[in-house]
Amino acid sequence: MSAGSIVVESHPADTLMRADRLPHILCPGCGIGSVVHTYVDAIAESGIPVNQHVCVSGIGCSGRAAGYVNIDSYHTTHGRAIPFALGIATYRPDLHVTVISGDGDLTAIGGNHFIHAARRSVALLVLCINNFNYGMTGGQAGPTTPLSAMSRTTPHGCWERPFNLPFLAQAIGASYVARWTVLHVRQLRTALLRAMNKQGFRFIEILSPCPTGFGRPNDIGDGLSEMQNYLRRCEVNNEIDLRAVDIDLTQQDSPIYVGDFVDVDRASFRPQVVHRAGA
Ligand code: SF4
Repeated sequence: MSAGSIVVESHPADTLMRADRLPHILCPGCGIGSVVHTYVDAIAESGIPVNQHVCVSGIGCSGRAAGYVNIDSYHTTHGRAIPFALGIATYRPDLHVTVISGDGDLTAIGGNHFIHAARRSVALLVLCINNFNYGMTGGQAGPTTPLSAMSRTTPHGCWERPFNLPFLAQAIGASYVARWTVLHVRQLRTALLRAMNKQGFRFIEILSPCPTGFGRPNDIGDGLSEMQNYLRRCEVNNEIDLRAVDIDLTQQDSPIYVGDFVDVDRASFRPQVVHRAGA
């Protein structure tokens, strides 16, 4: 035991976490652990039997989530979390399948799967932990890196327009769309519970500090500073036109809109061939 280690005999989330995998690989100040903890809290509170929850994750730091939760879980290849989860959700509609993925994995190499799963209304809850860069591979720019933001591959500032993920999810047919940050733990848990009880393709973007890959090159500081940035700038607006929720983390005074943006009813995808097979 190193000096300063905290030893606890038990934790309320013990049964839903794989404690044997600890210590985790995440950097100090990373927000991914908060997302995983909020997710298992929501599972415990959902009333849905634990053996009916399934977690699928992709590649990257967020992709580690499936390895830490103590439910049926799968760590898939790069960009392929959604098609893997689609197979489970389509063949076993009794299961509640959640995809936990990063912004790069989900909307770059996995982007095509993302749009077609939503278009089909596949019964998936998709959590995108958005930290605006490819953290695990060294802080390269990705599809959500804000304009002018610094990264390992944009040393003079990013010049490519980033995705506005809530607007994209709404446009392609998601039945539920929300955005919160890891600071908004209670709102996020409530959003997860709402989404777990809906049909169709549900999407929650969760803004999360990455002090190593994004905070440092953009002078945001450590994880706590990034959380203070969210505290200062986030505005809850559930009714906002989603064309207006672009994020520019490098413009210190611009608002970051969060909220439960879309909640509509849309039946889940059930292809005839699966019905005929008797699933
Ligand atoms: S690189 Fe970024 S996302 Fe990855 S563990 Fe570190 S802080 Fe978290």
